[in-house]
Amino acid sequence: MAERLLVGVAASPGLVSGRLWRPESEAASQADPAASTGDDEAALHGAIASAGQALAALLGELDGDEAEVVGMQIAFLEDDELARPAFEAIAAGQPAGAAWAAAMDAEIAAYQASDDEYFRARAVDFQDIRDRVLAELSGGASGPLVVPDHAILLAAELRPSEFLSARWGAGAGLALAQGSPTSHVAMLARGRGLAMVVGLGPEVLDLHGEALLDGAEGTLVVAPEQGRLAAAGARIASEEAGRAQAAVYAARPALSRDGVRVAVQATIADPSDLDGLDPAHFDGIGLVRTELFLDRPERLTDEEGQLAAYARILAWAGGRPVTVRTLDAGGDKPIAGYTPAHEANPFLGMRGIRLSLRHPDVFRVQLRALARAAATGPLKVMLPMVTLPRELADARALLEAEIAALAAAGVAHGRPALGIMVEVPAVAITPERFDAEFFSIGSNDLVQYTCAVSREEAASAELGSVADPSVLALIARVAAHGRQVGREVSLCGDAGGDPALVPALLTAGLRSLSVQPGLAGAVKAVIAGLDLASTDEPSTPPS
Ligand code: PEP
Ligand code: MG
Repeated sequence: MAERLLVGVAASPGLVSGRLWRPESEAASQADPAASTGDDEAALHGAIASAGQALAALLGELDGDEAEVVGMQIAFLEDDELARPAFEAIAAGQPAGAAWAAAMDAEIAAYQASDDEYFRARAVDFQDIRDRVLAELSGGASGPLVVPDHAILLAAELRPSEFLSARWGAGAGLALAQGSPTSHVAMLARGRGLAMVVGLGPEVLDLHGEALLDGAEGTLVVAPEQGRLAAAGARIASEEAGRAQAAVYAARPALSRDGVRVAVQATIADPSDLDGLDPAHFDGIGLVRTELFLDRPERLTDEEGQLAAYARILAWAGGRPVTVRTLDAGGDKPIAGYTPAHEANPFLGMRGIRLSLRHPDVFRVQLRALARAAATGPLKVMLPMVTLPRELADARALLEAEIAALAAAGVAHGRPALGIMVEVPAVAITPERFDAEFFSIGSNDLVQYTCAVSREEAASAELGSVADPSVLALIARVAAHGRQVGREVSLCGDAGGDPALVPALLTAGLRSLSVQPGLAGAVKAVIAGLDLASTDEPSTPPS
């Protein structure tokens, strides 16, 4: 058989050399939605309850992002509104399976039709719920997938709960006909280090035999030639060695070969991301993306809830610095009822600090909770999307007012350091205009705004990157400014966790990075191979 190359979309890096493998059957195919069960209303109630119990049992074995995905599905199942159209259809004479499938299909279609890739990717969560309940209606859900060692799982799409309940053999991977790199399954695969390629097209489901799956390139090579197999074997061995080495470095402070210390901090999206992490492996927390867990209107004004979340992170850090970013809603992170519903160009519109200053009612709550949390540990507060010095001054005035009010009321509080993100070229070009106590470079947005390239489109990524000389020059300028005025400059965009970019970032003068926790070891391993002392001299910012 001749070698055949299929090109999809990269969803989770890693290289797998093994057999293409299809599960025998999928839960959905076992259900016969047209069959009536006699008492269809009771049957649907029972099936929803059983599906919920099965998910709750699965939840007990999970934590972090994985628990969040399953918890969200349980919440959907418990939402009477979701099932209401199905019960109405049953009352009108439809069998339970057909009624449930139709109600969920309408929900799925609405998500699939969304303009927003994030919401489109949520459709698969509803497919998961639909099929679990259908499987219960037809006599019980099928057992978990057992994926053999070095197998490349072929499927049209995979549900998050299928992914989580599956037993993944060593060196296994996923090749999906459909799917999206921003889906929950893709996020879970990255978290577990499983290679994954999506969007390979329906023809992938008819393939079999030996194959090479490249999760970084987004390709699947079926019946690979000997030379390609040998090269892949060497790469797999070196990736394995790299992982083993990273695990050793993860536990040590980051030190260059010639003894320069670099701070490697953790970036988190939710306090639960810290579960199972050893604080001693990190120089603190460099970014807490608060908009990702305060993403409901009622949480935005829940001062006690926010205080508990910030205090939990500070307690975990045990005296190490914690940098909490104030709400960075807008752009790709809408919050219903808070972000504007329709903007022609949301990434250039109401985002981050711009929005916080327009919602002082919400902003004050967050600043108050942060000032109270600052009584429990070294807290730094960071403002996103700053463009004008006035925005920093206005935020400082609000923070001072909340501190004064807390003091007057005799409430325990502290005064957190107030810094800004450098994501907009206007700040990077003239950082000296900003009287911030620290700076943190948001390279994801800085690239997007410097190179005029959307961070949302994989296809345009080659037009801009942190490695672009213009972006590196801006980073060097901010780093030099920080040295000159004695204020910390860190970097909290994804580039800090990319071993290929770390040398250029440190050469540009940075000495502090914040990275996804799972990447800290690989980053420290790269740093250990660099000589940085010659780039360690205080320098004058370019004029
Ligand atoms: C960034 O822009 O680099 C950043 C860290 O912020 P976010 O990715 O959340 O926009
Ligand atoms: Mg940003």
